[in-house]
Amino acid sequence: MASSTTTNPVINAADLASFHEHLKKSTRVLALLGAGLSASSGLPTFRGAGGLWRTHDATSLATPEAFNADPSLVWQFYSYRRHAALQAQPNPAHYALAKLARKMPGFQALSQNVDGLSQRVDHPPEQLQLLHGTLFEVRCTDRRGCGYSETNFIDPIVPALAIPTSGIDPSSDEARQARTDELQAKRQGNELDISNINVPLPSVATHSLPICPKCQKHLLRPGVVWFGESLPTQVLDNIDDFVEAGAIDMIMVIGTSAKVYPAAGYTEVARERGARVCVVNMDENDRPAGGWKEGDWFFKGDAAMLVPMLLEPVIGQIGS
Ligand SMILES: [Zn+2]
Repeated sequence: MASSTTTNPVINAADLASFHEHLKKSTRVLALLGAGLSASSGLPTFRGAGGLWRTHDATSLATPEAFNADPSLVWQFYSYRRHAALQAQPNPAHYALAKLARKMPGFQALSQNVDGLSQRVDHPPEQLQLLHGTLFEVRCTDRRGCGYSETNFIDPIVPALAIPTSGIDPSSDEARQARTDELQAKRQGNELDISNINVPLPSVATHSLPICPKCQKHLLRPGVVWFGESLPTQVLDNIDDFVEAGAIDMIMVIGTSAKVYPAAGYTEVARERGARVCVVNMDENDRPAGGWKEGDWFFKGDAAMLVPMLLEPVIGQIGS
């Protein structure tokens, strides 16, 4: 399952052994998951989304104001992101974490990823708290209480939001360049950009966008947390409940910066509950807020390689 372009990380055998010893004794474990978890799954990065979206500042599209001003444009952006996420494949780290959840009832994962990859490997939903929501839940925009939401993996979600690729001459210079770029991206094992052909965005009428099937009046919107919105209350409550239920043996910070919110905050909270900290990241300068403490672990490399290896004493071999 691992990408052939992934390089083997160099692992300190003593660190791995001491981690395994601690994991085997652990019953309550938190994991904070970020973009690095999905890095080898072939997802284009949010800010790096090119082609169609090169002329747009992606962060300016992820706001309630942008949606109110131009729901067609924002829905086209999210339709592209849903399509890209569905082209990506869950990697061995997603499988390993889902397997750990099934083996260890006291394991709780807090994910900042909206890509749906953990859901696609059947990570038990009650052990997967989605801090930033997900691209694959949509909900009614009616603020006065329609309350409709649904899980939806259909691509495109409505016909009008199909990714515009037609009308390109495959022998054109643009199409050739796009194939070269895509091949190069694949060789690098990341940043696969499916929309490198710079076609103009079609105009999509508002009445062709997804409409709420319950009230049949308001638009549906992507169930992600936009800039300026608060994190979902139920998710935060679930995490608080977990933290308050007792001592925590360990917090794993995987593919996300350990020194900024929310990882920094949860790392401190877990430490207060007795947790040792394990960071899995490509960046060796990514130390937890407050610095390293005795008993912490740092494993440098691709999560897809490292996580299955780290969890093996509890979950066995992935794929078996
Ligand atoms: Zn509604």
